[in-house]
Amino acid sequence: MAQQHMTQVLVSPNNLSRAPIQVGILGFGGLGQAASRVLALKTEMRLTAIADHKGYAHNPHGLSADASIAACHAHDSIGYLETDGNLSNNSIRELIHCAPDVEGYFLALPNLPNTFMASVAQQFINSGWQGVLVDAMKRTSAVEQMLALSDDLKTCGITYMTGCGATPGLLTAAAALAAQSFSEVHSVEITFGVGIANWEAYRATIREDIAHMPGYDVEAARAMTDAEVSALLDQTNGLLTLENMEHADDVMLELAGICDRDRVTVGGIVDTRNPKKPLSTNVQVTGRTFEGKRSTHTFTLGDETSMAANVCGPAFGYLKAGVELHRRGLHGVFTAAEVMPKFVR
Ligand code: NAD
Repeated sequence: MAQQHMTQVLVSPNNLSRAPIQVGILGFGGLGQAASRVLALKTEMRLTAIADHKGYAHNPHGLSADASIAACHAHDSIGYLETDGNLSNNSIRELIHCAPDVEGYFLALPNLPNTFMASVAQQFINSGWQGVLVDAMKRTSAVEQMLALSDDLKTCGITYMTGCGATPGLLTAAAALAAQSFSEVHSVEITFGVGIANWEAYRATIREDIAHMPGYDVEAARAMTDAEVSALLDQTNGLLTLENMEHADDVMLELAGICDRDRVTVGGIVDTRNPKKPLSTNVQVTGRTFEGKRSTHTFTLGDETSMAANVCGPAFGYLKAGVELHRRGLHGVFTAAEVMPKFVR
């Protein structure tokens, strides 16, 4: 009897042992490779599909993060992975078709041009695949394109989680939580510090950050050669200082009903020559309580946590939440500010 009771307590609906969720990663650069290492430590998710710009790999029994990263370092594409790799100029489309068993994809792709991720979502819509997609896109205008696709995604049975990295993502969700103490939110200020040892490990991230600098835009940053990016970083001693960025935290918090978008500001410093953060990443939420007191909640990330940890962790947390929504028949676009991420074991 006692044993029967124990079993009932331990097997809560959340603990039900199911087969691991089969997960794919699209884009296998800095974040994609880090994401594979995050998944290697998880039992609830299994990495079974990867695509980059020159190829893809698929194995329903699982892909090794170490072997996949080694193949990319040696040959610059996952397509060269022994046994499971395939070279392709149309890697995403081919992978979607050969891997119907993948339940969710993390899109660790560059959003260059600014419409690229929306075009990938459209490819999924056209393919007939059903499941969960998660992005870590940054720009307001990029997330707005995805919101505009919500009805199409809903119709074809895709649950799309947008803005689910660090900022937007983890910090936006923290702001949504912090807002609960207030009857009015006056401001949300996000300040990030990123330290990476060399910019080549995160080419798209750095190009997209340059696009926010005065005198640059997405097209200008996209058109820069690697040598031009290096020359720019030489002038700034490897530092990118960013203010008043067009970041989707604003539209996400507005949509979640927390505050108008003009009350949200995002800026930060990226050091491309030192893995140590130049400042502690934080979000400050200032508001007025029901008693009329003005106060500020601050949520600060640990300095030892890397950009990759703070993007990939939340992305898979939102992927798990998305899978639960999908299995309940809830499709369409959701943002990181309206759904709580689930912890992936
Ligand atoms: P990266 O340049 O290191 O890697 C990009 C990968 O995408 C490469 O593997 C490349 O082969 C692949 N790719 C490019 N075009 C492709 C195509 N057409 N088909 C298939 N694969 C293709 O990129 P990164 O630095 O890891 O950044 C990825 C994204 O993450 C960027 O858009 C960046 O802005 C975003 N990001 C978000 C946050 C956040 O907090 N929200 C933080 C950091 C980065």
